[in-house]
Parts: sequence; C-alpha cells; structure tokens
Amino acid sequence: MESKIIDTFGRPHSYLRISLTDRCNLRCFYCMPEEGIELMEKPSIMTLEEIIRISKTFVDLGVDTIRLTGGEPLVRKGFDFLARELTNLGVALKLTTNGILLDQHYDLFEEIGLNKINISLDTLDKAKNAFITKRDYYDRIMKNIREGIAKGFQIKLNVVLIKDVNDKEINDFIALTKDQNIDVKFIEFMPFKGNKWDWSKGVSEAEILNIVRAKYGEVKTLKNPKHSTSNNFQVQGHQGSFGIISTITNPFCADCNRIRLTADGKMMNCLFANSEIDLLSPHRNGETIDQLILNTIKQKKYSRDGMELKMDANHYEKNRSMISIGG
Ligand code: SAM
Ligand code: SF4
Ligand code: SF4
Repeated sequence: MESKIIDTFGRPHSYLRISLTDRCNLRCFYCMPEEGIELMEKPSIMTLEEIIRISKTFVDLGVDTIRLTGGEPLVRKGFDFLARELTNLGVALKLTTNGILLDQHYDLFEEIGLNKINISLDTLDKAKNAFITKRDYYDRIMKNIREGIAKGFQIKLNVVLIKDVNDKEINDFIALTKDQNIDVKFIEFMPFKGNKWDWSKGVSEAEILNIVRAKYGEVKTLKNPKHSTSNNFQVQGHQGSFGIISTITNPFCADCNRIRLTADGKMMNCLFANSEIDLLSPHRNGETIDQLILNTIKQKKYSRDGMELKMDANHYEKNRSMISIGG
C-alpha cells in the first residue's frame, strides 16, 4: 500500500525513525553539547505501550519501515519487548546503535529477523575513540562488530568525518570493505543546537571521493536504492561498499520519505525541523491522531526545513540537539 502520509510536494512518507530515549552511554562531541542537555523528564517520555500504539497508527497510514534510534536505543528498558511488538506490526525494523550493548541482543535480532544494523564508529584508533566519545568502550564495540559480522548480520558503519580528527582514516575504513561484506557510510558533519558546527571542520563528498580515488583509482558507482540518502560506491575487487551521506554539499531531499518521532512523542517532518507537533498529548487524551499526522506532513518544507541554500545558525540553533532528535 502506498503511504497516505503525503506532503505538498507529493512525497509519500513510509519510513519512521523513532528515538527511544535521549539518554546515551557515550558523549560524542559532535552530537552531545559539551554542557550536556536538559534530559527529558520520565513522565514526558512515551511508554513502550504508547510507542507501539502510535507506531500502529503510522503503520495503518502506510509506514512500512521503522528505525529505532536515540540517544542510544539499546539503553531503553524493555527494548526487547518493544522490538518484538513492532516486528509484529509487520514493518521492516532497523536499528542505529553505538554498538556497546549489541552482544546482549544478537539472539533477539536473530529471532525477530532484524538483520540490518547501523553502528556508529568514527575511528579505528582506541585513543581517538575515547577523545570523540569521552568514554572508553572501543574494545567492546570492536568485539561486538566482529561478532555481528561473524553471525551474518548486515553491518553498516556510520562515520561522521571531521577535519583533523578522523579525516586521515578514510582509506583505513575503505580497507575494511576489502574482504568483508560491510558498508561504510561517511557522513558529512551536520549542525545541531550546541554542537559548535562550522563547515570548515567538515569533509565534503567531493573531498572524500578524491581521497579514495588517490589510493584506489576509479571507483564503481552503485545504483542507489529508492529513497537512498547516500551516494554509493565500491572499490573494484572489494566485497563491501561505501556511501556518502552528503547532507551539506548535496542533500537527498527530493525523494525524502522520512518522518521522525522524538522520545517525548513529537513528530518532526525533517532532521532540521525546528517546529514539531505533539502527538503524545492528544494520544494520552484519547484522541485519534491519524488526521493530525496527515495535517502535519503538509507543513513539510522541500529541503532541510527551508535551509535550501545554506545552513543558517539562526535556524539550526533553535533546533534540538542531535542526541534528542534521533539522527
Ligand atoms: N546512539 C546511536 C548511534 O550513535 O548510532 C543512535 C543515535 S545517533 C544520534 C544517530 C547517528 O547520528 C549516528 O550515526 C551519529 O554518528 C549521527 N550524528 C550525530 N551527530 C551528528 C552530526 N553532528 N553530524 C552528522 N551525523 C551525526
Ligand atoms: Fe550517543 Fe549516538 Fe550521539 Fe554518540 S552519536 S552521543 S552514541 S546518541
Ligand atoms: Fe528529508 Fe530533511 Fe533529510 Fe532532506 S534534510 S532528506 S527533507 S529529513
């Protein structure tokens, strides 16, 4: 069924990203503001039952894919119950995680058929990992990644590139794709409230491709799946592939099918939206929310919540911090 959640540009929205919590066991500097964030109070966070019921409303309107994110989704109490129940709604369930708690969930993922996992890993250097995340979980994350690959999960590594932090490691990540069927997704550094964004710290799609070509020669351009948010490539002879999420220099908004739901039950039309619509309160009041969802999507702007030409601090500083949106 084609989704009924259609914006004024005729784009049907079938992909819901749910942030399960604004809590996290890491403190990545590009995501979590240095001064921390004001954490959501428990009563304002959707209960597991509320997440399931609100998700069901989205599914009935045509959502067929749900990605669980956060904060760190695997720190949410009752995660296993929730994942089972969402799978029972008949959606393709996906996960973005920092990998720390993966080993405790592989059996569940095998049971419910969740076989695609995005893991954030910005560096292959233990000391640098501690610098980026402000915590020391590198060995555990690497062990869990190896275990996931050995168990046959389809692993994508998300790498946010930042100049003079990890830009010299681009080809080290590409080397991982040689003998393993993993996909490395390089992500252009994006601005959110409090993350001290400055594009001079970013690494663009064109720069990334130049660095890879300088070492490996011409790379094969892969056909992008529908609604892809990355351009995808493969080095000749490598088993795995790589992609570039070029939200800053070459955004993929024309075909956007994504909706976000924050842990406190607010619907966001775009990653950069600084307006949001509360679905949880009307749901708690016993009202139906399907018409509210259909009306909200009509407010979606064409690209980057109206920042078509450039990222504007007056806009994104009014947005949430990434850790409370659910990237
Ligand atoms: N904690 C989980 C994780 O790290 O995978 C899920 C939530 S995290 C907010 C989701 C994704 O957003 C991660 O891949 C992270 O690297 C990415 N992200 C966070 N801040 C970003 C930024 N400023 N620019 C680009 N990507 C960012
Ligand atoms: Fe936590 Fe993920 Fe943000 Fe890092 S990127 S602080 S792991 S939510
Ligand atoms: Fe969709 Fe907004 Fe991302 Fe563009 S920036 S792809 S409109 S969520």
